[in-house]
Amino acid sequence: MISDKKDIRALSKEELRDFFVSIGDKPFRGNQVYEWLWSKGVHSFEDMTNISKETRAHLEENFVINHIKVDSLQKSNDGTIKNAVKLYDGLVVESVLIPTASRTTACVSSQVGCSLDCKFCATARLKRMRNLNPDEIYDQVVAIHKESILYHDRPLSNIVFMGMGEPLMNYKNVLLSIDKITSDEGLGMSPKRITVSTSGVPKMIKKLADDGVRFNLAVSLHSAIQETREQIMPFAKSFTLEDLKEALVYWYDKTERLVTYEYVVWNGINDGMDDIKALVAFCKLVPSKVNLIEYNPIDDGEFQQADDAAINLYIEHLEKHRIPVTVRRSRGKDIDAACGQLANKQ
Ligand code: SAH
Repeated sequence: MISDKKDIRALSKEELRDFFVSIGDKPFRGNQVYEWLWSKGVHSFEDMTNISKETRAHLEENFVINHIKVDSLQKSNDGTIKNAVKLYDGLVVESVLIPTASRTTACVSSQVGCSLDCKFCATARLKRMRNLNPDEIYDQVVAIHKESILYHDRPLSNIVFMGMGEPLMNYKNVLLSIDKITSDEGLGMSPKRITVSTSGVPKMIKKLADDGVRFNLAVSLHSAIQETREQIMPFAKSFTLEDLKEALVYWYDKTERLVTYEYVVWNGINDGMDDIKALVAFCKLVPSKVNLIEYNPIDDGEFQQADDAAINLYIEHLEKHRIPVTVRRSRGKDIDAACGQLANKQ
């Protein structure tokens, strides 16, 4: 049942302090409760053991703690773990723990479904149901951090916003969640270890630059030719490559942080010399690197991963122009936890 009481975690520390003053208590009580909610991550007022019984009862009357619940946990034979995360209103998102030899990365969702329409992505078929709240994003990270310690014996090291949804279409809440993740009262993680991936919303990329963010930016490019990009990512008709270029130059001028382009090469779609030349030219705009991602099939074959010869041609030309390129192999495919597969089987 959804309560009509206010979610206490929507309050800032200042607002919590004000609340306690308003009921005749000390502002310091707000700090204590804030610490329980964020650093200690409790899910019930009962657990706030240094807060008096009366005060806890008072909080209970006025607020709820809308926490997430990891509903099911699937483990891949490569160590990847996928969490199905139930939200307070019954909707479900997914997040993924990806271990490598040296790091554990959390891949988190920012929206339930997605408002964009990339034709190769399973999440796009769900449409956007709602934005996640900052605490719902933060909770996914904490859940994966705990799983990393439990199953891999080490803390979480990196976070990528590459789960369900378009982070820059839920701008405010994504930035608030990152504030919590990086603050000492949250996980105290360095923003350098966080990457926000966008399908390319020019206006919001500029806003990131204006807001002086210190995390990394990745753009899902997939084609540097307007016509081709529109075919596979129809929203690109409104968010054109010209506008994207302008936004990226703006981003680099202000932040001096290089941009990562995510790129899948598909048979007959972007596997020609024209496509490669266009990408090389695009990459010269601002310092950048290219991440060639393996395609994870989500349907009956409209999109097919190009063969190794086509990938190698991309690598050869990028390297010739001194553009760093890496090939990212898929993880967690057997449990539908790989890029673009989230929500495939709900
Ligand atoms: N909306 C954001 C973040 C979510 S998608 C964005 O577009 O960047 C995370 C990455 O997975 C993106 O680079 C996206 O293009 C890629 N992706 C989507 N579907 C895929 C699929 N079926 N196979 C491989 N990568 C896919």
